[in-house]
This record gives sequence, C-alpha cells and structure tokens, in this order.
Amino acid sequence: MGQLIYFCAGADAINLPTSPIDGLLINVLDHGSTPAKIKAARKMIRKANSRHKMEDSGGYPLLKAEEKGKVITFDPSLPLKNTGKALNISPQQVMEANAIHQPDIVIGLDWPIRKLETDIQKQLEFYKKLEFNVPWAFESFAWKNALIPSVQYFQPLQCYNLDHLDIYLNKIRGVLFDGVSMPVRNIKAAELALFLVSFYQRGITRVHLLGTSSFPVIVICVYAAWNLLDWVSLDSTTWRYAADKESFISPFDLSRTDLRAYVQVPATKLNPCPCPFCRGRSFQSIQAIAPRKDKLQFLREHNWLAIANLANELYANGYTIPNLEKELRFRCRNQRQVESLIQILSVVDALKDSDISLLQTVLASNPSGRQRTRLAGRQTSTKKCPRQPTGQTT
Ligand SMILES: [Zn+2]
Repeated sequence: MGQLIYFCAGADAINLPTSPIDGLLINVLDHGSTPAKIKAARKMIRKANSRHKMEDSGGYPLLKAEEKGKVITFDPSLPLKNTGKALNISPQQVMEANAIHQPDIVIGLDWPIRKLETDIQKQLEFYKKLEFNVPWAFESFAWKNALIPSVQYFQPLQCYNLDHLDIYLNKIRGVLFDGVSMPVRNIKAAELALFLVSFYQRGITRVHLLGTSSFPVIVICVYAAWNLLDWVSLDSTTWRYAADKESFISPFDLSRTDLRAYVQVPATKLNPCPCPFCRGRSFQSIQAIAPRKDKLQFLREHNWLAIANLANELYANGYTIPNLEKELRFRCRNQRQVESLIQILSVVDALKDSDISLLQTVLASNPSGRQRTRLAGRQTSTKKCPRQPTGQTT
C-alpha cells in the first residue's frame, strides 16, 4: 500500500486555495529565475504550508518555447530566463534554483516529446530529444548531489512506448533516481496502466504524473497506489484554469458545469456539493456572485476541494477493485467509463506479475470491447520481467 498525493500547481500567493494543501508544486522558471519571483514563491510556500513540496525543472516551458519558435539556449553562463522571445536553461541552473527553495523532491531537466501522429514522426522525435535528455539526466543528477544531496531526485521520462522506456533507462544507468516523473498528455488510461505496471516490474516504486487530474488518471492512480507503488503523485492547474473559465467541477466525477452569467442553468439542476464553500448555494447563486474576481475565487476554492477530495475519497474507499467499482458506480454519471476503467484494472491486476508483453497484448485488444486502444511498442517479449532491479536508490 502506497501513498496518493495530489499536488497543487499553477498557484500564487493570491489565488492559492485556503483549504489544506497536501502537496505544492513549484517550478524553476516561474518561481526561481528572478529575485522578484523567488520572493513571491517564498510567500506562497509559507502560506500553503504543505506537507510535500516538489519543484519541476522547466521542461514544459521548454516544450512551449519550442512550439512558439523562441530562441532556445542551454548555456549556464547566461541568466536563467523565459521571456516572450527567448528561453535559457541548463541542468546546473535548475539545481541552483532548486537549492533556493529546498523542496522535498526535485525533477531533472528534460525536453518533452511533442504530440505527433505517425510512428516515424514519433521515432524521430524520441531520438532527437534523447540527445539532450540522456546527458541532462547525468548532469541534473550530478548537480543535485552537489548542491542539494538530501533532496529526492525524480527522473523525468519522455517516452511514447515501452521500447523507448527500455532504451532510455539503459542509457541513463548510473543515475540513481528516487522516482520517476512522466507527463500523461495524450496517453489513454490503458497506456498509463501499462507504464505503471512496467515501473512496478522494474522495481521503480515512486511515480509522479505531471500536469493531470483527469478522472480516469486518478482512478488508475488509486489502483497503483494500493497495488503497485509506494508513492503515486499527480499535479494539475485544472482547479484554477477551470475557475478562470467559470466552470464548476463536480466533486463526484469531475464533470463540469458552465456557470458563466449568460448560461441558462436549469433550476432543477441542484448543486449537491457538500464543501464548506458551496453548502446551501444553488448554481444560480454562484452564477450571480459579483464582482467577477470574487466569483473566480469562489470557483477556485470549490474546484480545488472537488479534485483533492475526490482523490482522497477514491483512495480511502478503493482498496480493492470491487470496492473501487462500487465507489465509482455511485459517483459517476458515465457508467460506461466506469465499466471500461474497471475492466482495464481487472486485466492489470490479473497480469501485473506476468510478462509485460502479455498485458500489452490483452490491453491492446481492448477488454472493454468499446473502443480500440492502440498501444505502440514492442511486439515480442525478449525477457521474463517480474520486478527487475534498477538503479534507483530506494
Ligand atoms: Zn463546493
């Protein structure tokens, strides 16, 4: 049995939720690149008083800079920066910035792979980024050890499939990571489950999923925390961005209700949220909150609790698959989604100690029988794989 921690990302000292925050995620470029940003981050960290602090490296802004065509440099002799036209970052600067805030967990510098369509495009992208991601893993780890040796080091993984994972982990042998972090952009639930089982079989016990709090991902994480890993964490800015769009997130299944002033919400649609902010309030009364900044603050507070409580409650009640299913069926309007998730988890549970290629084949055939899930990657098994040792330190 492991932990499941939902991290708050995208916060600042003003919009930070006032409810308890288990984990706070900050990042090097937004919170450690200038004296003003460092000062503001210190204020937020004090206010949040979270149990866990994690600092991300800046891979995501690097991906965005690439997409926008900014001038990108990796020169530690130039200032760490991310402006409208240019970005400069290096593993040394990432760890120097991490040393300022002394989080519990830091993430090495990586260059994320982009969302691409064809297998050839993906292969080219993986190998292009590998040229940066392999040396940066060694440099990030070395600078982490030199500057903040007691802090946990999570190795970011940029892989489209399990073959890429094999290649990357082989190339960074010697980097003694405490856990791994992985973006789940564009990964379906079955693919995520496959990656998590692969981590379990490799002896990787701590995993952070970057930038997500979707309902299927949380469900898969609940299973993984109870059955596969010692630590599963995830972060998202959804609570804030949904509020900015005046969206109300359901505390039961994270579905959204549009509460912009001109939207007609039927009077028969009741707000069942028991959170201290909503209690007794109708959707119409939330819609009418003025001025707008108060409405957004209300929605940020509610949305944060909706996601955090959902993760905590699913974890508390989902200690077996039947218990999890019971909880999901009670909460979720989309019963077909529940059925699909439970079928994926049932297959994972039956095959998690078998050769991973068997699980891959079965998941690719889609046990739910509704939509075909394509899982790129190896076609044949090359080894028996239950819980092979890795280079991780714990
Ligand atoms: Zn509420």
